[in-house]
Amino acid sequence: MASTRPFFCGNWKLFGSVAESVALATGVRDAVAGVSGAEVAVAPGFVALLPVIEKLRGSAIGVAAQNCHFEPKGAFTGEVSPGQLADAGCKYVIVGHSERRQLFGETDAGVARKTRAVLAAGLAPIVCVGETLAQRDANQTLQVVGTQLEAAVLELGEAELLRVVIAYEPVWAIGTGRNATPDQAREVHGYIRGRLAEKLGPRAKGLRILYGGSVKPDNVAGLLAQEDIDGALVGGASLTVDSFATIVKEGTRA
Ligand code: PEP
Repeated sequence: MASTRPFFCGNWKLFGSVAESVALATGVRDAVAGVSGAEVAVAPGFVALLPVIEKLRGSAIGVAAQNCHFEPKGAFTGEVSPGQLADAGCKYVIVGHSERRQLFGETDAGVARKTRAVLAAGLAPIVCVGETLAQRDANQTLQVVGTQLEAAVLELGEAELLRVVIAYEPVWAIGTGRNATPDQAREVHGYIRGRLAEKLGPRAKGLRILYGGSVKPDNVAGLLAQEDIDGALVGGASLTVDSFATIVKEGTRA
């Protein structure tokens, strides 16, 4: 059972034209309009952010960017700053997604800088942590997740930490169709909550800890029924209105 209002964020990765992204956002907006008690966000590619934000204006759906740079401005050709994303109307930025860590060489230190930059721009970071299959098989899951948390968020001041969203995304479950079992996810979520509670005490209950990794309409209820699982970061299944809206509805009911 989620300890707070459940949060569902669709990560559209490198998919969709501007027109397709606006159509998907419109469909999601309409399909979840009757759902009360959940927070919903979508993360389109950079070029679709503004038109999607315009389309969702006045609705309860937030918009997230999938990445950002850690500097506010400067000679950083090709980068986008958190301030620019705030100016465009984003509410969230996904930081440290495993695809960025694995394919683009992002380090814990870089993720920490981005997290701080996002907070400084007034946005909420969705900070991703998670182990590889080799690390899980070597019984290193909690140690790896702990190190990632220490680097990215546990050094933050309390007021900043309270604005962070954490996403536990086991790398072996992302885009593979193989999700963590509810028990596996609950163990790690409980660990994350415990680490947050070392800093925040009972207020750690107020932070959202999302699960991500092959979340689908037919497995979301089992995951969201677990203590400390407060929502989902959804990749592939967020690319159609029906599956994402069903995830929001089933997950909220769980
Ligand atoms: C993700 O991109 O964060 C993700 C969890 O992807 P998928 O749902 O496709 O595994």
